Amino acid sequence: MERTLILVKPDAIQRGLIGKIIERFERKGLKIIGMKMMSLDDAIVKEHYAHLADKPFFAGLSKFMRSSPIIALSIEGVEVVNAVRLLCGITKSRAAEAGSIRGDYAMSVSCNVVHASDSVENAEMEVKRFFREEELFSYEKSEYMHVYAEDER
Ligand code: UDP
Ligand code: MG
Repeated sequence: MERTLILVKPDAIQRGLIGKIIERFERKGLKIIGMKMMSLDDAIVKEHYAHLADKPFFAGLSKFMRSSPIIALSIEGVEVVNAVRLLCGITKSRAAEAGSIRGDYAMSVSCNVVHASDSVENAEMEVKRFFREEELFSYEKSEYMHVYAEDER
């Protein structure tokens, strides 16, 4: 079963959007298996955004990600990495599809309210980066039985 990582970014915390954003994932029927507030330090931001380390906007991005706590979420489900990326919308919020989280709540390329893992391989690494195994929960979610047909689970 796939797991993915979502970060509710500092701009969303400042704007009081935590509940609204988490609600999007619940509304879709997804199963949250981990959730916590944390402050990011320089090291974890560098590791998480290593692919962007040489970009001119990296210093700003790092400062932004450390400007207030974030909420880390891990969600589990069938093909959930792609499903969550679609729910979040594209990086450039101004062009993000209406109805997506970024499409509905953001206008900035930098302050785009959420992070979501972009591939199954990255998701596995990212979930481990933000959660210890004992912070992830395995449990029955009764409604979940209706989210996927039996042959999709
Ligand atoms: N970012 C930015 N300026 C850019 C591109 C990206 O500030 O021109 C920030 C933005 O917060 C984005 C993050 O860097 O969400 C990671 O970039 P990535 O290309 O991985 O986009 P994402 O996967 O978040 O859609
Ligand atoms: Mg990315």
